[in-house]
Amino acid sequence: MQYGWALIGYGGMACWHHKFVRDHIAQLCPIGAFDIRAEAAKKAEDNDLHVYQNLQELLDDTRVQIITIATPNDVHKEIAIRCLRAGKHVVCEKPVTMNAAELEEVIAVAEAENRVFTIHHNRRWDRDYRIARSLVGNGQIGKSYFIESRVQGSRGAMHGWRGYKQNGGGMLLDWGVHLVDQILMMVPEKLVSVNAHLINVFSDEVEDSIKLTLGFESGLSALLEMSTNCFINQPRWHICGTEGTAVIQNWDCEGEIVKLNTDAKMEWADDIVYTSAGPTRTMAPRPKHTSERLPLPQEKPDLSEFYKNVCATVSGAEELLVTPQQALRTMKTIDLLFESERVGHGFACNI
Ligand code: NAD
Repeated sequence: MQYGWALIGYGGMACWHHKFVRDHIAQLCPIGAFDIRAEAAKKAEDNDLHVYQNLQELLDDTRVQIITIATPNDVHKEIAIRCLRAGKHVVCEKPVTMNAAELEEVIAVAEAENRVFTIHHNRRWDRDYRIARSLVGNGQIGKSYFIESRVQGSRGAMHGWRGYKQNGGGMLLDWGVHLVDQILMMVPEKLVSVNAHLINVFSDEVEDSIKLTLGFESGLSALLEMSTNCFINQPRWHICGTEGTAVIQNWDCEGEIVKLNTDAKMEWADDIVYTSAGPTRTMAPRPKHTSERLPLPQEKPDLSEFYKNVCATVSGAEELLVTPQQALRTMKTIDLLFESERVGHGFACNI
């Protein structure tokens, strides 16, 4: 079964979707695109898509069953609702909407129209994330209690519409949504506390460098950091477990696990140990023979699963992998993180 597919917005990310679908998703037949910018429309035409003159023309095209929305964030809600009301199934880019209340409106329409509605949370298929998730879930480093997840760049201010509040710009709605979604999917527990520190180093009106702390029911806590002015990167993931520590340095997934040797127990020195920074017992280096270094587990995620699952859900053969309810949890967390920054303190929650 092949479904007719169209794009709304034909900018950077839409071009990626188009190429990816053309190269990997035989179940979708690319038909056309609508963009309000003439240059974007021209690009769509050059890439062999039918160019619609307005949104209604696209919605009236009975060849199109599934639509991907890849516009700036502030118009996702209004466009998604129009598509769903026109009987189309919808894939929406992240952040799905500007906040949880908007998403609830979209979910109500999707349910009323009995259409598939999903969100392109593609970073659930990142290899570094899958390795981290596997380490947290498989007990290889014992029970995880601190997870640090970071993306750090040095390109400065948020670019284009991402620099404006009214368009849904800023780092929390940009990468924050990815890292929050990843951690909520990785830790199968209630989120019980959040705290945000959002700063704009170079952007005029939105945050471009942020630190978020999320606390879970078991006591596990996560630090998520995104920066646009960092010239020496920390590891992409740093995970502390009761029996060891894992580091994933970067998107190439270099890294290792260091854990207690199976036959060596934790040994405290009898006396104070003298390091080059002075005396200490708690922070003294561990004797080498008591720990071992292991390679990271292997993961080979296949992002084509995302669109294949969308098609299989439309045909009734599968359940959605990325559900609106999962995205709603993420957006409720994002709302609370914005509020945390506004009032200047963290919150207890039950999300
Ligand atoms: P972009 O500026 O490159 O493209 C957006 C396009 O939408 C532009 O061509 C613009 O003319 C068009 N547009 C604006 N309003 C429109 C409207 N009302 N109707 C039709 N077209 C309209 O932005 P981008 O980087 O492609 O981002 C688009 C979306 O994709 C955003 O929601 C962004 O958060 C998301 N995104 C996701 C990822 C990811 O990894 N999942 C990566 C980048 C961007």
